[in-house]
Amino acid sequence: MVGMTMAHLLRRRGFEPIVLERMPAGHYIPRGYMLGFQGYEPLEEVGVYQEVRDAGRPIAPRPDQPPVAVAVRFGALIEALQKDLPIHNEHTVKELVKDDIDRVVGVVAESPDGDVTMEADLVIACDGTRSPVREMAGFEADIDVLPEAALAFMSPKPADTSFAMDYMSDGGHIGLLSWHEGSAGWRSCARVGEEAALAPGLDAVKEMWARLLPASKSALEGVTSMDQVRYSEPALLRCPEWWKPGVVIIGDAAHFFGPETGVSSGIGLGDAHALAEALSQNRDDPDAACHLYEMWRMPAVRPYEANDPGRQRILVADSVQAKPEERWPPEA
Ligand SMILES: Cc1cc2nc3c(=O)[nH]c(=O)nc-3n(C[C@H](O)[C@H](O)[C@H](O)COP(=O)(O)OP(=O)(O)OC[C@H]3O[C@@H](n4cnc5c(N)ncnc54)[C@H](O)[C@@H]3O)c2cc1C
Repeated sequence: MVGMTMAHLLRRRGFEPIVLERMPAGHYIPRGYMLGFQGYEPLEEVGVYQEVRDAGRPIAPRPDQPPVAVAVRFGALIEALQKDLPIHNEHTVKELVKDDIDRVVGVVAESPDGDVTMEADLVIACDGTRSPVREMAGFEADIDVLPEAALAFMSPKPADTSFAMDYMSDGGHIGLLSWHEGSAGWRSCARVGEEAALAPGLDAVKEMWARLLPASKSALEGVTSMDQVRYSEPALLRCPEWWKPGVVIIGDAAHFFGPETGVSSGIGLGDAHALAEALSQNRDDPDAACHLYEMWRMPAVRPYEANDPGRQRILVADSVQAKPEERWPPEA
């Protein structure tokens, strides 16, 4: 999402970006998704904001301003961004090319036709939280594993409300998002591993969710199999540096926020907007543009990182116990 937005914003400023994507054309992993207000401006400039907003449900609608966020089918945004954008699919970046002063000047990508080397004035890594390019370029990455795990469901049935969230007595949370075509729920739970977290089974999961977050009742009617329930162990990511000569990391490759913030993609889209503008103002010097980008973007992104509620919970982990009726998995 961040890479495609970046490419559109660059094309609008007269650049010719090459977009490399390792997955086949049209592929994406569906998820419960809300677009936060931080992402509106870049998408407006790309020309897809209204389409995405019309396809979704407003969260915290206000009479005189846009909603705080939009719960929307994830594919609606991805498909809108894919339109009219040339993408080299099934091209996996596997190596950075450097010149004799160690500046990154291109990439080697694995493709169905063999390895291809592509020169670049700037490599913009929008390759997600596990960013292979971040590793290849040697950026430091601080990964903070959250003290709790996450249990989530996806349902083809919408809920009565677009958003609901509640905090539990140990600071953990339980939430629900619903777009027109379906809904998703998530909650924090004990880090017990997938097998133990899913062991109580479907009826127990649904009973717990409906009891702790009654707004999710109609969404839960569409949860008919444990295949729709997922356990994960989320981590937060922050990187002290975002660029080195010839290469810059943006979006999830540079930062990842906790599950209850809902800001990760909006911040990433804002990164793309700022970087496109910095490049446009420094057309012949991409490294100067990256320096400017970092100066502009740090005051916008660092406070989100510092104030992430997940990070605050790391500090107080194990000092407060949840009430027995809130715990997952339930005690035998
Ligand atoms: C379950 C879930 C729910 C979420 N809910 C929300 C939400 O409600 N609101 C929100 O704002 N955010 C949410 N997020 C986060 C949001 O999805 C991300 O912030 C957003 O997708 C970031 O986009 P990105 O383009 O930076 O990274 P990604 O979406 O991870 O995209 C990276 C791309 O790089 C490609 N790639 C990786 N390695 C290579 C390589 N070597 N060569 C070529 N291509 C490569 C990948 O295939 C992928 O297409 C959620 C995430 C998850 C997992």
